[in-house]
Amino acid sequence: MGHPTYPRSADEAPASTERWTPLSRIVHLNDLDLLTRETTDPASLARLKKLGLAAEDTERLKAARAQAAQSVGARWLVAYERARQRYGSAVAAVRDRVCLGCFVTLPTTARPRSGAETVTTCESCGRILFWG
Ligand SMILES: [Zn+2]
Repeated sequence: MGHPTYPRSADEAPASTERWTPLSRIVHLNDLDLLTRETTDPASLARLKKLGLAAEDTERLKAARAQAAQSVGARWLVAYERARQRYGSAVAAVRDRVCLGCFVTLPTTARPRSGAETVTTCESCGRILFWG
């Protein structure tokens, strides 16, 4: 699944998240959750390292997660947590108008206008949509 480009270095992360779109914040939160869950996986450990977080540094990861959750805001956090508990990952990519979480074709009106800072959810599965 593709990701929007956002700063990867831990030095940049806290301050620059201010300029992120709501969706970038959600994707970042999703990343942190996946990393937290997969800290036994070598590829995830490499990504943690890239974020400036050592594998044994679970406290920092937790703090980064808490900060990311806060930056997402209550409105989307509810949808996020609901989908995460249900599916493990709350974010689904969209390809050719198909939600890759549940493979339902989304209506043409579902896509946010480009540049719009709108977060959309799949009307079928409830995952937060990442339009690639
Ligand atoms: Zn879906």
